[in-house]
Amino acid sequence: MSFGGRNLRDAVVRTRITEDHTHEDTLDPRNPFIIELELADDLPDVCARHGRLAVDKVEKALLFRSRYPWDSPTEPPWVQRTAFQEVSFMLRLMIRVVTMQTPDPRPPSTLLRGTWPVCARCRLKKKIWQRISLALFLAGPAVLVTLLIVCLLTKSMDIRIPVTLAFFPGWLPFGFWAAVVIYQHAQTFALFRPITEYTRVEIRAHPRFADAVESRGTTTEIREW
Ligand SMILES: [Zn+2]
Repeated sequence: MSFGGRNLRDAVVRTRITEDHTHEDTLDPRNPFIIELELADDLPDVCARHGRLAVDKVEKALLFRSRYPWDSPTEPPWVQRTAFQEVSFMLRLMIRVVTMQTPDPRPPSTLLRGTWPVCARCRLKKKIWQRISLALFLAGPAVLVTLLIVCLLTKSMDIRIPVTLAFFPGWLPFGFWAAVVIYQHAQTFALFRPITEYTRVEIRAHPRFADAVESRGTTTEIREW
């Protein structure tokens, strides 16, 4: 796997559980989030995606979704909710709906809290993607207002029909969905292998980030859960 033409390496970072609802009698496994994790060690001041010096650190809970379909609510792995994973998940869900299959219950999720190093390039990309996402969100209300004005001003179906279609099934659901996926993409500060353990995660990282993590070692005492 490569990103931007570079070979990525696995950087192992320790994690710890902050919330565990798996042993609760009243647990509804369809409800996220049954396990919550946080990074146990501080990350180096290097961006995981580009290997560049961090200019900012962003506190953010990254979301992971159980593999689909899922078998057990208490067993990993959880897959990072990247834009690609969201598109893949929605397509499979749509196929189930179109083919009249019963949609699976919502799979359990987890989140990983951490403070993520962000380089200037990441920050610029995040800003651009967020603005594209915002523009797509706002396009819906804009089309709706246009539709209302068109309905008030004209009875011509030649104008009403295309504006109606632009709102539905145009913006809703596709434009709205694209805005959500793009927003998700803007928040992806690091790429992860599926989580298979509660005590560590593997970041698919630029070699400079992986070197920095390895040379740094652990930075905190981790307590047993
Ligand atoms: Zn970066």
